[in-house]
Amino acid sequence: MENDIEKAVRPRFRKNHLFLVCFPAASSYKCHAINKTQNLQGKLTRYTRATWGIKPQIIKEIYTKAIESYILYGSEIWYTDLVKLNLKLNQIQRIPLSTIVKNYRTVSTEALNILSGCPPLDIVAKAKKEKFGLIFRNEALMVQDLTLYREDFDLGNSDLAPPWEACVIPWTMDMDPGIEEYKIFTDGSKWNEQVGSGAICYDSNGQEEWSFSLRLGNNASVFIAEAIAILESIKRILHINCICYIFTDSRSVLMALASYCDQTSIIEEIKLILKDKRNIVLCWVKAHVGISGNEIADSLAKEATRRETIVINIKFSKRWLKNHFQRVIKERWQQRWEFSLKARYTYGLMPQVSTKRCFGDFYINQFLTGHGVFPVYQMRFFGKNDICHCGRDQGTITHYLYGCPTFNQIRQGYLPSNFVNLGLLELISLPKVRVGLRLMGQFLLQKCLD
Ligand SMILES: [Zn+2]
Repeated sequence: MENDIEKAVRPRFRKNHLFLVCFPAASSYKCHAINKTQNLQGKLTRYTRATWGIKPQIIKEIYTKAIESYILYGSEIWYTDLVKLNLKLNQIQRIPLSTIVKNYRTVSTEALNILSGCPPLDIVAKAKKEKFGLIFRNEALMVQDLTLYREDFDLGNSDLAPPWEACVIPWTMDMDPGIEEYKIFTDGSKWNEQVGSGAICYDSNGQEEWSFSLRLGNNASVFIAEAIAILESIKRILHINCICYIFTDSRSVLMALASYCDQTSIIEEIKLILKDKRNIVLCWVKAHVGISGNEIADSLAKEATRRETIVINIKFSKRWLKNHFQRVIKERWQQRWEFSLKARYTYGLMPQVSTKRCFGDFYINQFLTGHGVFPVYQMRFFGKNDICHCGRDQGTITHYLYGCPTFNQIRQGYLPSNFVNLGLLELISLPKVRVGLRLMGQFLLQKCLD
């Protein structure tokens, strides 16, 4: 068990050898994480209160980048999919989410997840554990009809070279593609979910020497297809000692080659070869401006996408893995939201989960949750009278938005003329409406306190 923890934590510290970490047993780690978290959350609450008016997006950023990672630190080891632990995790998550949403206490955690755009913590922890299982324990990952193992992924070089050994490959954008030298044009393409690489080589007299058109596995990206086109070309000219120019229209591949960052193994392989082959010069060429070599490489790549057989199988990338788990988290969250019995009013407004949302306005969120200053709510939770102060109807959100004569002026001043035809979400997307709703909320709050 301790060995696993060590593995889980090691990558974070690889670049910085100053840390000396000792590893407690998993169970005590869980307690530690939970206790420490409460401390940190106290700080966040104080911070958000002290700087009242801090943007909810910023608090969300602090939550997702710092607090969530802090709570889930080592969860790859200590997390187990048990009801009690899941409840505890979501209970812990409630506190930071409240600082984002600024809600009434009675709002359910499910609604807080939706309003803040943060998935339930137990779902995040479970996905984290599954990812860890795949990478460090070689557990199978089922994706639709595929069963994937660690070997199916290009997870980069696990033993990073020290910075002084890392190399970068320079490139130029000033080379004339019409130059009468030994030159190669490369390109990659994706069409109908099929991917291909193509290249054509000319000698210094402008005579075609060779070309290729290779279909890659469907999971390859255009980026990978462009990189493969370069790699396969380089492999064909290793024996040549004169200057060779390789033209590509993919700036992202060139920039990856010129970067010190950890890259996919294909980029690393190109770097490794070119480090000692200084006669090969990489050049950028503008795409689709009628440069014949580039156009031919483009059509060779397109032709490759239509081929029957896949010649080069590509491993799944780190990015793919990340996207996969984000998708999994969203699907599980969506399913839970659909079957939950809580916050059905909010569900009616926002049936789809999304991590992009971030509603952090105290007054607006009362309209989005139904929990707030409205008399119907005050009756449900505090046994107060549910009739509006105007005496005409029950004090519901609909009454205040469309009926209550007290707010005629606000409606005229802040709501668009066609507001009866707009949904609540459409309405609050308008800045002026938000001001109006805040005024309504403030007025009703005063009425509540009277
Ligand atoms: Zn009224």
